[in-house]
Amino acid sequence: MPADFFSDISNQQTPPQYRYFDGSTWKPGSSGKTADVISPIDGSVVGTTPILTQEEIDGVMAAASAAQSAWELTPLNKRVGVVHLAADWIRHYLDYLVALLVREVGKSAEEAKSEIIRTADLIDYFADEVQSIQGMTLDSDNFPGFEKGRIAMIERVAYGTVLAIAPFNYPVNLTASKIAPALLMGNSVVVKPPTQGGISALHLVRIFQKAGVPAGVISTVTGNGEIIGDYVVSHPAVSMVAFTGNSDTGVAIAGKAAMKPLLFECGGNNPVVVMPDADLQVAAREIIKGAFAYSGQRCTGIKYVLTTPAIREQLVSLVLKTIPDMVHPGDPRSPETKLVGPVISEAAARKIEEAIQTSVKNGAKCVVGGKRDKAMIEPTVLTGVIPSMPIIAKETFGPVVSFVDVASFDEAVAIINRSSYGLQASVFTKDEGSGLVFGKKLNVGTVQINGSPQRGPDHFPFLGVKRSGVGVQGVRYSLEAMSRLRPIVLNKPQ
Ligand code: NAP
Repeated sequence: MPADFFSDISNQQTPPQYRYFDGSTWKPGSSGKTADVISPIDGSVVGTTPILTQEEIDGVMAAASAAQSAWELTPLNKRVGVVHLAADWIRHYLDYLVALLVREVGKSAEEAKSEIIRTADLIDYFADEVQSIQGMTLDSDNFPGFEKGRIAMIERVAYGTVLAIAPFNYPVNLTASKIAPALLMGNSVVVKPPTQGGISALHLVRIFQKAGVPAGVISTVTGNGEIIGDYVVSHPAVSMVAFTGNSDTGVAIAGKAAMKPLLFECGGNNPVVVMPDADLQVAAREIIKGAFAYSGQRCTGIKYVLTTPAIREQLVSLVLKTIPDMVHPGDPRSPETKLVGPVISEAAARKIEEAIQTSVKNGAKCVVGGKRDKAMIEPTVLTGVIPSMPIIAKETFGPVVSFVDVASFDEAVAIINRSSYGLQASVFTKDEGSGLVFGKKLNVGTVQINGSPQRGPDHFPFLGVKRSGVGVQGVRYSLEAMSRLRPIVLNKPQ
């Protein structure tokens, strides 16, 4: 029964008061201060999470530090077994976790199910892949001037304690994508869940605990980022920070983390370039899906389309014709709803509305949508947008796509490369060769040809440049990022 499995993590009242996990026990916070988790669907309180005091955070960190080395010394095959079991439990509680995600972050059941299944598959893949991570030896005489006689034996070892900070939009998947590699490489993990989405993340931690992660090796620090964030990130017990979230938050955390190694996935703001020879039907459908899925709240969402005025005219008319087929805004619990539901909060919706209105005041044209009702933003298409307008100057995390006219495709390259973001970009063309040549000019993490930006399959490298990230994720890359090399050099006795 889910209620039994998850019973310790809250007081089971309505709405439940959730607890934090100090590494051994699920506890209510001592300050009595809590954060409300509000459902974007109907404004109801899904539950509360405790805002920890600095003493409580110190306690969690001390337990994580104390437990780490024994965990790293635990045979890898045993660590792998624990992590595989967590994936099995996630599948076992699929329906329960889906219902929770729908209510907590306003996903449709289909989107939530895909997040949960993908998470279990990802965890299994991590646990399989870690077994092929090997050390190496190097001989000294490869380097000019050196004789034989020195050998470096190079192993991958844990950093120590990894702080895992995830965002609201994939609170299970993006928490697991940090927990699994950190544990498998022998680190302890302290999870700082997002406030919104935090309840789902606490359930995930409970699953890892039940799967057999030893005391202290996994734990949580709850509380709003703006209240506890600086203290947690700069805590001396944290050896490495793995963060996914907004670029501004990333920059602030990087400052506080000082010399700690970082693995950051930040904002997207992804452009699409449509070449004159592109299949416009395909491009229109990919743009709609890419811009409006989960109400535009994906780091890989499409934010703007760069093309010439002649192509834009045909493309916008196809997009407008196709939207009614593919998009049906509404309550994410309704089977009628397609792609667009409420955004995460009314406050977030107000910000999106303001960015649309300011851009329109500055000369953009709203060809469809543009209005807000509480947390719902109509699927919105803007034309005549220029890069300095607020709708694309910063990432707009909502169901809005902007068309930017360019006189040439060199101008498109210049706009993309001038942007402060650089997660992904897409190019639509029937000539794959010219797509490749064009793609090589773009300073972004990944270029997609004839497809919308996307994360995955998860073993592909996933990275952002500029304000979109630091380091590389993807199964093997994340395992490497959550460990360091330790060379031990054998010198010839003198
Ligand atoms: P956010 O506001 O930056 O929050 C992300 C996480 O950081 C939350 O857990 C948040 O906690 C915490 N946080 C906030 N301030 C902090 C601080 N000063 N110190 C430490 N932690 C702090 O982002 P979001 O709105 O949840 O998520 C949306 C953003 O994530 C978008 O920009 C999106 O593009 C990005 N994202 C990127 C990727 C990628 O792979 N590149 C994937 C998904 C999402 P609280 O919730 O308690 O504030």
